Amino acid sequence: MDSKQQVLLIEDDEHLRVMLLTALTEYGHKVTAAKTASAAFQIARESILNVILLDLGLPDFDGNQLIPMLKEISDAPIIVISARDKEAQKIAALDAGADDYLTKPFGVGELLARMRSALRRSLQIAQPVPSSRYICRALEIDIQKHQVLFAGELVHVTPVEFRLLTVLVRHTGKVMTHRQLLREVWGPNHEEDGHYLRIYMRQLRRKLELNPAEPQYLLTEPGVGYRLEFE
Ligand code: CA
Repeated sequence: MDSKQQVLLIEDDEHLRVMLLTALTEYGHKVTAAKTASAAFQIARESILNVILLDLGLPDFDGNQLIPMLKEISDAPIIVISARDKEAQKIAALDAGADDYLTKPFGVGELLARMRSALRRSLQIAQPVPSSRYICRALEIDIQKHQVLFAGELVHVTPVEFRLLTVLVRHTGKVMTHRQLLREVWGPNHEEDGHYLRIYMRQLRRKLELNPAEPQYLLTEPGVGYRLEFE
C-alpha cells in the first residue's frame, strides 16, 4: 500500500482518537480526525480521502446515519470501528453501505490489514474496466465468458448460481449481507428469503470447494452474510 493515505478518523473517544491518530501517522498515513458526525461530513466534503474510519456512537448523529451521507460525497471505503458487537448491528452498518466492520477492542495491526484490503478493493473498482475475472488459487470465475473453472476443469453452474457468483466477484473480499445478496440476485421482493441463499451457497460449495464444510473461497460471516475470499 502506498504509505501516504489520506485517512479520515471519526471517533469521539479522546483516548482512542489520539492513540489511533498517533499510530496511523507513525505508519506514514495522513490522518484528519473528527469528533462529531457533522465535523466529519464537512471534512469529507472538502477533501479527497482514501479511507474513512468511523465510530458509530457519535455525539450528534448515529454513525449508521452518516454512512449513506458519506457515500454520496466520497468514494473512500468506510471501515466501521465500533464496540457494538451484535450481529444485527454489524448488518445494519454493512447494509447502510459500510465496507468493513471492526469490533473494539482491536489491534493496530488488524486495523492496518483491513485498511490495506479496503484500499486494494477500491483501487480495483476504480479501474476503468472493472475486472470481470476472479482468480484465487484453484478457483477461476470469468464473468464475461460465463465460465467457472476449478483446478482448470470447467464446472457447470446454473444461471442463479452464476448470478450469485457474479455479485460476489463484483464485491470480492467485501462482506455481503444476506439482504444485499438476496436483493441483487433474486430482487427486492426477496430480501427476507434467507433460505434461498443457504440452499444456493450449499450447492455452490459442493461444486467449488474441496471440503464444503471448511470453505476456502465462499466464506461465511456468521450471522451477517458471505464473502468471496480476496487475494
Ligand atoms: Ca463513540
